[in-house]
Amino acid sequence: MRYLSGEEAEEAMNFMDKAIHAALGHSTCLRLKCGSVIVNGKKIIGYGYNSPPADKESQRRCSLPKEIYHKKVTDKTCCVHAEQRAMIDALKNNPEKIKGSRLYFIMLGEDGNKAYADRPYCTICSKMALDIGISEFVLWHKDGICAYGTEEYNELSFGFGR
Ligand SMILES: [Zn+2]
Ligand SMILES: [Zn+2]
Repeated sequence: MRYLSGEEAEEAMNFMDKAIHAALGHSTCLRLKCGSVIVNGKKIIGYGYNSPPADKESQRRCSLPKEIYHKKVTDKTCCVHAEQRAMIDALKNNPEKIKGSRLYFIMLGEDGNKAYADRPYCTICSKMALDIGISEFVLWHKDGICAYGTEEYNELSFGFGR
């Protein structure tokens, strides 16, 4: 991973703003609103936000405690992830532009402003990003905006907390 600086960091924060707009405009998750964009060159090729599958209220699980699920239920997150949605969007609409692209992810605090991301831990998104050919995953940490290679991102996610 590397921290972005100068013009590259500035450009990355502009794309983070687009991810924030996706979260503010569309996320309906009651736990944590998130947004994501996938960028190839200077062009956005996928947008995503988190909300129940197919945006169906009947599938909303935001208020259920995660302890109720069996250990075989490996994904206990309530909503479809913003990164998943951005990847699905890119796969549907710009599949030929995914190779070499960068995925930006942001979460919002309760005040609706952008919040710092934790270290990588979502293995659903880390596997999928690597699998479909995205090259970098970008997170906004307290100490700066950081680009991870997707292979590294997957390893870090599986090693979270160790
Ligand atoms: Zn939710
Ligand atoms: Zn995820």
